[in-house]
Amino acid sequence: MSIGRVIWWPINTLRRFLLACLRYVPGEHVILGHMITLRRFLLTFWRDISQGKALHRRGGGPQILDFFRSPARGDEPTVLQDYKTDGLFTVEYPDERLPVYERFRVLPVLVYDTEDGNVRCTSCNICAKVCPPQCIWMTQAKSPKGTVVPLPEDFFIDMDVCMNCGLCSEYCPFDAIKMDQNFELSNYERQVSHIYSLQDLLVSSEFYAKTHPEAWASAEEVTERNKVGKKKDQRLQKALAAAKPAPAKASQPAKV
Ligand code: SF4
Ligand code: SF4
Repeated sequence: MSIGRVIWWPINTLRRFLLACLRYVPGEHVILGHMITLRRFLLTFWRDISQGKALHRRGGGPQILDFFRSPARGDEPTVLQDYKTDGLFTVEYPDERLPVYERFRVLPVLVYDTEDGNVRCTSCNICAKVCPPQCIWMTQAKSPKGTVVPLPEDFFIDMDVCMNCGLCSEYCPFDAIKMDQNFELSNYERQVSHIYSLQDLLVSSEFYAKTHPEAWASAEEVTERNKVGKKKDQRLQKALAAAKPAPAKASQPAKV
């Protein structure tokens, strides 16, 4: 008989005996709940000791005392917590993380095309109009002649006001604004750092494809991407043509 069985046999016998007695005790379900927790607690310790993991942290350094060594940012292991998971700990965040699912959304980002660096946004203002808490505002770019160019000169989102609804991204006719998954946004002040400008919001299409692989490859999104790419190019060419200075007129001979 293994050592494990020798240890667990009296515990299991005691457990069965207590369960049998419980039937005659008022409030037996509360006591039963506590016993399940206690069983899980003891099993966890037993599992860690028997597997030689007693002094290991799952996400961090090798020893329990080594609290100051953590994995490099971005290299944290991802753990899955489900009904089969053993252990007292939930997730040792930030040394380990839960998986982030593709449709998880936090703040919007503005996408530019990696191939040509073109910002997709045309500064049409639709996202700002549909935003329920009105936390988007922008200025449109102007040509030297003063005509409007379909590009944002600047674009702002107040991240503390944004309620992460995703309506801006739903309504954008140019597939330019998308919801991102970064949730680690805390800071020491909010007046400056939490107002995201165009530079803070821009991400490449390559980055978006990496964080949203299913959406990026979906037939619907591919069609939309090609359609809006053409539409945007046409608008930009038209605006640039209108902004070109008119050719100088040939000088008239002086009248005599
Ligand atoms: S992000 Fe989309 S909806 Fe918003 S201004 Fe740009 S093009 Fe228009
Ligand atoms: S996610 Fe919703 S609240 Fe946030 S900027 Fe977009 S529309 Fe506004």
